Amino acid sequence: MGKWYFMEFSKERAELVTHLKVHGISEKVGRAMLKVPRHLFVPSVQVSAAYVDTPLNIGYGQTISAPHMVAIMCDLLDLQEGHKVLEVGTGSGYNAAVIAELVGSTGTVYSTERIPELASSSKNNLKAAGYHNVDVFLSDGSIGLPEHAPYDRICVTASAPSIPGPLVEQLGSGGRMVIPIGDAFQSLYIVIKENDGNVVTKEWGSVAFVPLIGEYGFHSKQKPYRRH
Ligand code: SAM
Repeated sequence: MGKWYFMEFSKERAELVTHLKVHGISEKVGRAMLKVPRHLFVPSVQVSAAYVDTPLNIGYGQTISAPHMVAIMCDLLDLQEGHKVLEVGTGSGYNAAVIAELVGSTGTVYSTERIPELASSSKNNLKAAGYHNVDVFLSDGSIGLPEHAPYDRICVTASAPSIPGPLVEQLGSGGRMVIPIGDAFQSLYIVIKENDGNVVTKEWGSVAFVPLIGEYGFHSKQKPYRRH
């Protein structure tokens, strides 16, 4: 464990959140991000860049998203205290921690990751940072997590070929999902399930995410997902 582990980086975090205001992020999401120690979610060789607004390599060909993208997705989700949230693509666990701050102690975050090593390291990161209301599952999140559905919110952090039907089914009435769609060219979509069950989809704009690999995602010859 490096000496950085015990550092707080409060000044760097505050500067990052100030910078994020250029993206029009809300006060509420800014306050949540001020509390989450991003340096505990990046590999030790990346600690010096933890509070730069950029995605970083977390190994296995995957990334921790740029802070502005995390903030934008959280704002689009309109997260409230007490919400039950499904995240697809735990990665480092950082986005799950920001969501956990926003839903508070009465909320719950379920997060799925398909790469065993990341499922395991994200659990350690979340524990080290003090987040106990996040449950990480090693599973194909493109089929959702039916055992805990319905969800108030679903946040997908990898890009799908199209909106996975099971995720729409697992969204509760009045629920909302954000999901990147596309391959070389991607757009972020907001999917709203109205109280009468009608589903409305809005396009937010261009983004760049790693692919969602799975039954309702892109297909991969390589299958790192193994149940133990
Ligand atoms: N939210 C993450 C964070 O805060 O670090 C960043 C996520 S990274 C951009 C996308 C993640 O989605 C990767 O860790 C990848 O392994 C995972 N992923 C891709 N397809 C998946 C699937 N079908 N189910 C669960 N996770 C998946």
